[in-house]
Amino acid sequence: MIVILKSGADDNVVEAVVARITELGLAPHISRGRFRTIIGAIGEEHPESIQLLEEITGVERVVPIMKPYKLASREFHPDSSVFKIGNVTVGEGFVTVIAGPCAIESEELMSEVAVSVKAAGASILRGGAYKPRTSPYAFQGLGEEGLKILRTVSDRLGMPAITEVMDPRDVDLVERYTDIFQIGARNMQNYNLLMEVGKTRKPVFLKRGLSAPIKEWLMSAEYILSQGNQQVIMCERGIRTFSDETRFTLDISAIPVVKEVSHLPVFVDPSHASGRRALVAPLALAAVAAGGDGLMIEVHSCPDKAKCDGPQALLPESFLELMTSIGKLARLLNKQVS
Ligand code: PEP
Ligand code: MN
Repeated sequence: MIVILKSGADDNVVEAVVARITELGLAPHISRGRFRTIIGAIGEEHPESIQLLEEITGVERVVPIMKPYKLASREFHPDSSVFKIGNVTVGEGFVTVIAGPCAIESEELMSEVAVSVKAAGASILRGGAYKPRTSPYAFQGLGEEGLKILRTVSDRLGMPAITEVMDPRDVDLVERYTDIFQIGARNMQNYNLLMEVGKTRKPVFLKRGLSAPIKEWLMSAEYILSQGNQQVIMCERGIRTFSDETRFTLDISAIPVVKEVSHLPVFVDPSHASGRRALVAPLALAAVAAGGDGLMIEVHSCPDKAKCDGPQALLPESFLELMTSIGKLARLLNKQVS
């Protein structure tokens, strides 16, 4: 349930509500909005709890949240979440572009691609050091050596870095090098991993599972939020359907659907959704037009030689062209490219 405080309620009211929620055996989560503070009380609800909370001076009303996800819901957090990651603002009003190669292959490649995507206007640098490959014989990533390369290059260019973590045992190690944790589609329901990144205070980029309904994807976000980490970004990256002309099918409607029920920023990855370079730009523009808060795009300076996902990687010059179109579209929508 959520406890809505009267506008202007001070910290004493917040403290009293938090104390009562804790006494009731529930977990308090505070959300300070533009006009009022809402405190979530998460756990098993009893009808008498509502009354015990409602009688506190400064409480306007207490309402149950009907949805199975609570902290991810707009009821708990009516304003869209906007947060800073280093010098980059993510959320409503912005279009944030994450770009880079699928995998970190070498410092030379990482550097070359990073310089080109930064010049084109991308603000966050991607690169995988742990790759979830369909075949156990395919390139699995450089591990810690890759993380070091990503950190060096992103520091040199002043861009926040994002990289995937696949194993709960690697969270501490990856946290030392990254600014944002990426949870891959195949790990969307790895609940131990979700709770582990939820305990950190670094933003988590949560990709939608290959066959996950939107509610289950939001429940995965709830796992992260329930651990106290408030910075979750949802990423639609294509789902499995009968359509086989593309690697997956980009579910464009997921953007307005998630934004309607949740305050979390929604990004789109047109590279993995399509698997085809030629489709990346049209899908990226469609995603921004449909209200997406950002994009994740794979770029490689020599896609034919890429160790992973070459066919979907944009060349730096095509990425620059796409960024020009994204800039025009963002202006039309009154959004800022961040
Ligand atoms: C990736 O971003 O490199 C990746 C493997 O993505 P996904 O988990 O969406 O397949
Ligand atoms: Mn990839």
